[in-house]
Amino acid sequence: MQFRVRDYFSPLQVVAHHWRMREAPLWSPERLDAWSRPRRKGLIAHAYTHVPYYRRLLDKHGIDPTRVDRDEVWRRIPLLTKDILREHARDLTATSRFSRGAVWAGTSGSTSSPLRFLLDRRVNAAAFALFWRAWSSGGHWRLGQRQAALKGLNHPDGWRYHRVIQTLEMSSGRLDPVTARLYRDLLERYRPRFLRGYPSSMYLFCRLLRDEGLEAHVPMVISGSEMLHDFQRAMIESVLRTRVYNHYTHWERAASILECGAGRMHAQEDYAHHEILDRDGEPVPPGVPGEITTTGLYNLAMPLVRYRTGDIARWTTERCPCGQTFPAVERIEGRQNDYLVSQSGALIPSTYAVTGFKGFPELLYIQIIQRDLEGVEVRIVKAPSYRDPEDTHRVREELHIRLGREMRLDIRFCTTDELERNPVGKIRSCYNRLPPELIERYGIPAV
Ligand SMILES: [Zn+2]
Repeated sequence: MQFRVRDYFSPLQVVAHHWRMREAPLWSPERLDAWSRPRRKGLIAHAYTHVPYYRRLLDKHGIDPTRVDRDEVWRRIPLLTKDILREHARDLTATSRFSRGAVWAGTSGSTSSPLRFLLDRRVNAAAFALFWRAWSSGGHWRLGQRQAALKGLNHPDGWRYHRVIQTLEMSSGRLDPVTARLYRDLLERYRPRFLRGYPSSMYLFCRLLRDEGLEAHVPMVISGSEMLHDFQRAMIESVLRTRVYNHYTHWERAASILECGAGRMHAQEDYAHHEILDRDGEPVPPGVPGEITTTGLYNLAMPLVRYRTGDIARWTTERCPCGQTFPAVERIEGRQNDYLVSQSGALIPSTYAVTGFKGFPELLYIQIIQRDLEGVEVRIVKAPSYRDPEDTHRVREELHIRLGREMRLDIRFCTTDELERNPVGKIRSCYNRLPPELIERYGIPAV
């Protein structure tokens, strides 16, 4: 998703959120509850009045929106899945008064087909304040200081310095020994106070540096958007001589679980309401794994209520020595990433390979499977709006940019049933099926 400064430029709102967000992690659980319940009730009242999908849903299930501050009523609200969001995006949008100034955003996701959602200025202001808090939580960065990001970036040089947000941006695609050395030099030159990015990309960057016998230093690293593996954390912390903080969020702006100084992951309940639910949608007790299900508290243009993320976590009841009272979860599992290999031998994270399909509603699903170095199989489940050959041409063009011009693309149209799934039935966007000797030669991390 493209960052645009103007979407976040609501200074009064940001400052108001910021002041509250400084205090909220230390509120008593009772105070937090007294703050959160009326907000959720207000959100449902808004959704019932202004969002056609919720009006129908609550009426169908006989749910009184004025009573959802009671747990037993709240839990009767049916869960929102990504498939529903895909199919009913328009119906989930509030009437024009609330969607004015909002922007459509999209994600290609690492496990599923593209999603589109509408974000209003209100949620962007809250998100700005949230990231301000998250990025400054380690005590290494203040608003206005430099940062660096290893991210999906389409720029001829593979990097740029974004002056407005004082961010050194480096492309996470096509990481190889030459670009790793370049990025190390850029980190030396710009001296950012922290680096953020996908753990898979930061791990590759660090592994390449280590292979070259090189090191770099940034005071803090923030890992996001994918599951952070222990081996990745260990490599990043040792090569960059830093501390990694894990931040679980998503572009839908309805979830935030942030690692604290004591190493616990705290659900940021003043930004979103997080539930962990079992297969039947019932809350799980502490220690039992369930699906992270979230309700964003700010987006009136497209409220996401009890939104199933597909990611797995479990609550812990142990008190955290950091002093925060936000509830904590044990490690987050579930998001998986795989790597493709270009003909030149560069590792390409799947998140980068499919990032160009954000906001590509003609594709219901796209899945890339690699069995040899010369080419990949591309499986496409078409949406009704898909037009051949125009859209096929767009897919080819996009993949050639990401995977290299020389990569052979075997495009195959199929049904959802014909997509490959992981052992728990999740559809992932990329599968590496290279022979074991190549996996070893290119050092592809197992998922
Ligand atoms: Zn803590």
